[in-house]
Amino acid sequence: MTPDALTVSLADRSYDIHFGKDLSEVFGEWLSVHGAGADVFVITDRNVAAIYGEDIVRWVGGAPHAVLAIEPGEERKTWETVREIYAFLARGLDRGSGRGADRDSIVVAFGGGVVGDLAGFAAATYLRGIRYVQVPTTLLAQVDSSVGGKTGFNLPEGKNLAGAFHQPRGVFIDRAFLVTLDVRNLRAGMAEVVKCALAGDAALWTLLLDHGARWKAMNDRDWDTVVRRSVAFKASVVEKDEREASTRRILNLGHTIGHALERAAGYGHFLHGEAVAIGLAWEAVFSSRLGVTPPELADRICGLLGEMGFVLDDAGVPTPAIAAALSADKKRFDSDIEIPMVTAPGACALHRVPAARLGRDLAELRDDVRERARMPGLTPAGTLSERVEGPGRGTGVPAEERDLLERIARGEGGAVVAALEKKVASDPRDVRSIVLLATAYRRLGNVAGAWELIKEALAQRPSDVRAQRVAREIERDIRSLPQKGRDRPAAPLEDVVILDEGKFELKAADLAAAAPDAGAPPESPEPASGVAGRAAEESGPAASLVRTITMANVCWAQGRKDEAREIVAEILRNDPGDARALAWRAEHDDQARDAGGDAATRKLSLLLETIAKEYGYDLSRPL
Ligand code: ADP
Ligand code: ZN
Repeated sequence: MTPDALTVSLADRSYDIHFGKDLSEVFGEWLSVHGAGADVFVITDRNVAAIYGEDIVRWVGGAPHAVLAIEPGEERKTWETVREIYAFLARGLDRGSGRGADRDSIVVAFGGGVVGDLAGFAAATYLRGIRYVQVPTTLLAQVDSSVGGKTGFNLPEGKNLAGAFHQPRGVFIDRAFLVTLDVRNLRAGMAEVVKCALAGDAALWTLLLDHGARWKAMNDRDWDTVVRRSVAFKASVVEKDEREASTRRILNLGHTIGHALERAAGYGHFLHGEAVAIGLAWEAVFSSRLGVTPPELADRICGLLGEMGFVLDDAGVPTPAIAAALSADKKRFDSDIEIPMVTAPGACALHRVPAARLGRDLAELRDDVRERARMPGLTPAGTLSERVEGPGRGTGVPAEERDLLERIARGEGGAVVAALEKKVASDPRDVRSIVLLATAYRRLGNVAGAWELIKEALAQRPSDVRAQRVAREIERDIRSLPQKGRDRPAAPLEDVVILDEGKFELKAADLAAAAPDAGAPPESPEPASGVAGRAAEESGPAASLVRTITMANVCWAQGRKDEAREIVAEILRNDPGDARALAWRAEHDDQARDAGGDAATRKLSLLLETIAKEYGYDLSRPL
């Protein structure tokens, strides 16, 4: 190890991370020692190749090599690109020879995080694994993704869903590359630096505070310090927990909300680091509400991120969409999530919190962060829908919605609603009609009903642009309702339970409201009320998040029979042979036994019935 290097100690997978400016010679030397005679396969992207094409040749020029420049961009982090890299490796250096890359070959990932993840994955899997090294050229890749051995690519179903752990044989972090990186990408990388400082390096945190808004003007020495200390922290965590069994999860600081934001906004809207910055701020405020993060530190976190130029909210992404993405991420909303929380600068611990609690607090967190970062309040004019729909796809409000509103204005509201209710009841997967019905309810003053429906729509399709826009409008209405108004529905999406891909369920808000915070620090006591309070008392902590027969009985006793039936139906969906549930159903529920049918349809019509009962619609009236 040279003075400018740091060793990541992972038994026979240990490697050095080299730091400096123009490391081509260091790299050449490494190659002559570790890869003498080996074929070298460089993967880069076209942007990097355009700027550093000659440098790449200088770095690897002494060895037999070939270079593949893939299309740049996160949207190219796909299986197709992995295939392209396999083909490149299989072709080998000499097309005519029929000899592809072999076990002695070395892959060089020369680029940002996308190149690193793809090249790393190809190296992890080609011939069941060949050697690779990382030459990260973005700040994000230098301080985060190039160290730790996580490789992979995105699936249409979600980011980084396919991947492998494969440690590089060396990492070469060259400050010179950052000179050409645009400010947006540079700033995004700083979000991971702030994360490292908060999670594990108080001195780094102080350095960042010292520079504040002037971070871009840091001198070389301070840049070196920033990069090295971030990497050193990450390496130390990886050494303790290479495969993210426990400790490594603290590197997810800011990422619970960050990932949900990326997903809710539609991938590509935020850079990863931008979403992480927002996540760091919101999570800091969340954990300070739980008494974990000192309030003044939460203030400083929001303040520093704001000074660094991060925008700590985006009015175009509605709270319910983020809550839905949070729960969709976890697949089951009734489970706890483990969130790293900052206890002091440079110290961080994992806390278990019911996912519902985080979803429920989101709206308030946003307001809180805006205040701390001195941003204006959330404005009605979200711009996301226009951006996502793109030119030529309308101005946000589609024609059918305008028609609907015109008909309501002409006094045909009753007929419009009845028709839509029937449509939704007959096809509960018809998100478009659900959104239209929510719009109609809202226009007719039934904000609570509108809210229930839009949650349903978002639970089914969190990134639906139209549902997001309508949710935003309804959310605004809700915020302007008097606090104790009868119609004021429970705050955000805490009562949407995501069961499985595509399945969903609404749970009465007060069932979730008293969810005990297993393992979480104490919070201001909320009087346990109604069903939830009693269920929790009867069946012990954490039980109120679990659908139990006890809870069904409590609901039934309170006259909430539909809820009781639904609880039992869910138990039976999970385990059709559950004896207690079968006995309960035999005893209580002739109707459900006869109905059979599609559970989702039944659930939707139950919801409609409830709304109709509460708000005085007549479902049986003729169209
Ligand atoms: P990240 O490293 O943030 O995960 P990417 O690998 O997609 O993301 O890199 C972000 C963008 O920056 C890409 O368009 C990439 O081509 C470009 N890029 C990478 N390194 C440099 C550099 N040193 N100078 C300029 N642009 C770069
Ligand atoms: Zn990250």
